[in-house]
Amino acid sequence: MDFKEILNEIAEETKELEGKGKVANYIPALAQVSGNQFGMALLAADGELFEWGDSQTNFSMQSISKVLTLTIAFREIGSEVWERVGREPSGNPFNSLIQLEKERGIPRNPFINAGALVISDILCSRFPNPKEVLLDFVQKRAQNTNIQYDKIVAQSEKEHGYLNSALVNYMKSFGNITNNPEEVLDLYFNQCSLSMNCVDLVKTFSFITHRGFDSNNKERILSRSRSKRLNALMLTCGMYDESGDFAFRVGMPGKSGVGGGIAATIPGKLTMAVWSPELNSFGNSLRGIKAMELFTTKTGMSIF
Ligand code: GLU
Repeated sequence: MDFKEILNEIAEETKELEGKGKVANYIPALAQVSGNQFGMALLAADGELFEWGDSQTNFSMQSISKVLTLTIAFREIGSEVWERVGREPSGNPFNSLIQLEKERGIPRNPFINAGALVISDILCSRFPNPKEVLLDFVQKRAQNTNIQYDKIVAQSEKEHGYLNSALVNYMKSFGNITNNPEEVLDLYFNQCSLSMNCVDLVKTFSFITHRGFDSNNKERILSRSRSKRLNALMLTCGMYDESGDFAFRVGMPGKSGVGGGIAATIPGKLTMAVWSPELNSFGNSLRGIKAMELFTTKTGMSIF
């Protein structure tokens, strides 16, 4: 399959979407990003890498990081994770408070903000310096020690993080946060601020494509069974309340972030990342989703 040509076609056919979405502006530091950037990277199973456009421009990972923190929590405490967070799609916006009251402080899944905050709490309990653990994990998977937290983005989010602060405090009132809320938020805002590019992303996510095995470092990260479960969660919950539509149109387990990135996988076959900062009304990259939809349509490769 000529992936290089397919990426060219996708770039051309999605160009008309430029200017039609909106860069996230609720985190002031993200609002500075120029909207017309577009990058793609694809890592095939044989290790061949294909890139297009701004594939090596760093951007804020935001919620894509939730897959990695869940992976670390999963390695640490296994299925005990599910005592504190569910695994059902939420059908609500990523930062919604409403379900938490009805469900007594147990978030629907680890990929909405409330769920990711519980995962941060788990990491805060397990490690004296969880930020270091996460950064090491990401740098190692991507084989890139230049990946860092973006202190400006983390600080900007901290200063405007009233909703995330409400979520964590609310869950604490139900006993589902054990650490100091400030500590949990600090890890969460930093994980979201991780600055990396599409090439870093495909390398980082390739262990999920290879059933839990990081072939770059020859290291097992998750068992096959846990990797399968991570894929299932990405498919059902990875795109907030647009997860069903993403499965319908694209057919890949994926995870988006409000920085405009999306990482997705076809298990056993390839890892794909796209970045375009302009978002649709669900907080997902408008051009990024279309690019992935065209990719599975043109190649006939989806998980279904
Ligand atoms: N840092 C963002 C927040 O908590 C992450 C949102 C996202 O990427 O979905 O609001």
